[in-house]
Amino acid sequence: MRGNLLKIVFLTILFFSSARATSNAQADNFPWEGKRKSEHFIVYYQSAPLGYIDEILNWAEKYYNDINNEFGFIRIEDFWTWDKRTKIFLFKDKNSFRAVVNHPEWSAGEVKVITREIYTYVNMGDFFEAILPHELGHIVFREFVGYKKKLPLWLDEGVVCFLEKNNRAERLMVVKKIVSTRSFMPISELNDIKRNSIFMPEIFYAESSSIMQFLMTVYGKEKFLVFCRMLKAMENAGNWELALKSAYGIENIQDLNDKWVKFLKSN
Ligand SMILES: [Zn+2]
Repeated sequence: MRGNLLKIVFLTILFFSSARATSNAQADNFPWEGKRKSEHFIVYYQSAPLGYIDEILNWAEKYYNDINNEFGFIRIEDFWTWDKRTKIFLFKDKNSFRAVVNHPEWSAGEVKVITREIYTYVNMGDFFEAILPHELGHIVFREFVGYKKKLPLWLDEGVVCFLEKNNRAERLMVVKKIVSTRSFMPISELNDIKRNSIFMPEIFYAESSSIMQFLMTVYGKEKFLVFCRMLKAMENAGNWELALKSAYGIENIQDLNDKWVKFLKSN
């Protein structure tokens, strides 16, 4: 990441059943050479260098523990076991991966949250450092708060970008540099950005990440856990701002924006 402030990994997340069904069918029909399991994961692979699959399983188990710890989530028995293992589909190369996974060029990996599927290929850049924790973060977060909760995209992405520890400082620096410029998007603008309308991904992901850094730095992970529990408890169509107010005492989006901007300008 050295020398490139905006070199950030982007990912695609799919919640929607139609896309899921298509890719599921394709993945199931793929000529997998074999599969290997660990406690919470199963890797389907084509051909891979010696030790590569074990490396994936080892990193995945490590991140599983790290993420639950980082979020303050209590380990729930049978959270991910046996038939509920997360599947990691490992293609032999980028072309094989691209033939099945369709998403924007700027997006690297892919995760399907509801069916707990992660798609990757051998030697995908940044996979172990950033993509794996990011994608696994999507699965863990949504497993906890609920798949159907209507949340702004920046919140889903901010939560998991926070897990990319190596990118935190750079992203925060990017946002601090632009906070007083016209490139900066207040939360009212971030709220309008959907998956298919991210036209400035570097700024969108950096800002989303920095909002989580603000919340974690100022309020700590105990409040974040309260926030997640509030999200989990609310109705599917519920207002996430109520969870924000209950957990953090932050009145509304404008109040969150004001406090976040103050944080960005403060140190
Ligand atoms: Zn993502």
